[in-house]
Amino acid sequence: MGIEGYKGVFVFVEQRDCHIQNVSLELIGKGKELANKRNTDVTAVIIGKGVNSLTDTLSHYGADNILVIDNDKLDKYMTEPYTKALFEVVEAKKPEIMLFGATSIGRDLAPRVSARVHTGLTADCTGLEIDEETGNLLMTRPAFGGNIMATIICKEFRPQMATVRPGVMQKLEEDKNKKANIEKFDVNFNDADFNVEILEEVVETKKKIKIEDAKILVSAGRGFGSKENISIADDLAKALGIAEVSGSRAAVDSGWLEKDRQVGQTGKTVRPNLYFALGISGAIQHLAGMEESDLIIAVNKNPDAPMFETADLGIVGDLNKVVPELTKLIEAE
Ligand code: FAD
Repeated sequence: MGIEGYKGVFVFVEQRDCHIQNVSLELIGKGKELANKRNTDVTAVIIGKGVNSLTDTLSHYGADNILVIDNDKLDKYMTEPYTKALFEVVEAKKPEIMLFGATSIGRDLAPRVSARVHTGLTADCTGLEIDEETGNLLMTRPAFGGNIMATIICKEFRPQMATVRPGVMQKLEEDKNKKANIEKFDVNFNDADFNVEILEEVVETKKKIKIEDAKILVSAGRGFGSKENISIADDLAKALGIAEVSGSRAAVDSGWLEKDRQVGQTGKTVRPNLYFALGISGAIQHLAGMEESDLIIAVNKNPDAPMFETADLGIVGDLNKVVPELTKLIEAE
């Protein structure tokens, strides 16, 4: 298969119950940057039931074109019809680059689409750039258990496909005047495409905000010493109002926090307005997940902790004393 004739950056837009997932808007932002470098445009592909209503948001966040596959049977994500829909999109539109969020849906869907269109896929990317000499997409991701960063090129096949970690790329500023070209895309579905029946949906009861979406994170490390002590971080988060508690891998591995709260190379990448690094030493694998935060405040009893080199503000002291004091001051505000 040649690579001529493939053009444009396509982003699969993930939605759940007609709520667009943040990662898709982030990918439209990054897709726009890549498209500019390739003198082309960015197309959002949205699939589901009632998704016609989402085109304004996609336009406002930078999509130049929107392909809409709106079908009553696509109420919930299903592997087979979504794969077929994207396969037909690739066949018809020949995108040069196709991006997915590295979410549970993206991780299920992207490999199947790439296999069906006979191209490669780089999973879990944390960086995407265009090679100025060749025009190829440079896809960077942690490799060998996170010990090195590998940059991968898909030279001979198109589209160049990647899943990208949520929280790594930045969405564009919303521009309510922006209007995209909207195209209804018909897929040739048949009954066999819907051979899976969803019998029951179990909705998570805990209404936690994902740490990738939090504006403020209070992050706890091994310095907390015990699960009970995490209440010190909970109290600070509560006093701040809009904060969520996250942590280092050491805190997660110790069973003090749930896995979905882990920040870092093998956890989540976050970019909050404010990140408290409490009792966290600042290992490179942790920094990889949070160093893009707007403001980092570190509390550590060791003045030589590497976290202080990354932090904007540092307090040398025992977190058991410093953090409750900080909480009291915030509560008194
Ligand atoms: P430590 O390194 O033990 O640091 C604890 C800190 O708390 C110290 O700086 C200490 O001075 C301070 N402290 C202790 N008591 C107090 C107190 N009372 N008051 C104030 N400060 C105190 N780590 C991640 O976080 N996320 C990842 O995604 C991740 N992925 C990894 C992937 C690979 C392949 C590998 C090899 C490692 C990975 N790690 C990851 C682990 C990482 O290397 C570190 O081991 C981990 O980040 C350490 O966590 P920590 O800073 O909480 O603990």
